[in-house]
Amino acid sequence: MKILLVSDLHYALKQYDWAAAAQPDYDLVIIAGDHLDVANPLDGRVQTVVILNYLKRMAAQGRLIVSSGNHDLDTRDASGEKIAAWMERVRGLGIPTDGDTVEAGDALVTICPWWDGPRVREAVAGQLARDAVRAKDARRWYWVYHAPPDSSPTSWTGKRHFGDVELNQWIDAYRPDIVFAGHIHEAPFRPGGSWVDRIGPTWVFNCGRQIGPTPTYVALDTEAGEAAWFSLAGAEMVTLDAPLTRPPPALTAPPAWMPR
Ligand SMILES: [Zn+2]
Repeated sequence: MKILLVSDLHYALKQYDWAAAAQPDYDLVIIAGDHLDVANPLDGRVQTVVILNYLKRMAAQGRLIVSSGNHDLDTRDASGEKIAAWMERVRGLGIPTDGDTVEAGDALVTICPWWDGPRVREAVAGQLARDAVRAKDARRWYWVYHAPPDSSPTSWTGKRHFGDVELNQWIDAYRPDIVFAGHIHEAPFRPGGSWVDRIGPTWVFNCGRQIGPTPTYVALDTEAGEAAWFSLAGAEMVTLDAPLTRPPPALTAPPAWMPR
């Protein structure tokens, strides 16, 4: 299975165009949160409508998975926690999103919402506990989770780690195969940071974010057992069934399984 991971597109519509154009070359595209840009003067509701149109078009041409990020929170629930209520409209388009669990190839994929308080955090805990039982029958278990784990190069801002400590505990408890994350835009570009980490058996990916029409992205081929990261700052690759070495080897040419 070929998977394309992007995240933190933050209403960069050219980057959505890029992802939509790349989509036919992959079996699955994951957009791991932060679709909207709270710093953009354009009203969030308008941004939401535009992004929903992009997602609808992408869902029509291939398999797509979408999660929320902290920029996507548009509503407060009855307990006062901020939630990305518009993800219900994403689900309405037939796109698996926050709270959903789907099968993709030989993997079970658990899609987690951004949590802003104890209610949603407990919902995530329940989702992972429930899926842990199902994951026993799957060859692999993937999580889509906007924040990277704490104390990881994938959550390094250049000054401090800014990851999700709960996620560390869940990774330790359940040992998924891959966590598809985002959130810390600078991590891959700062000394001491990276787009990739390995915690026990779990691979963690955070593409980071860059300006311009092409987003940073991670492309994976689960059969080839390789994952590659591409950015304006260069490209690197890891072999999934081998230990992680730092820094990961630089890519001078795309791997053979890369579609283009
Ligand atoms: Zn972001």
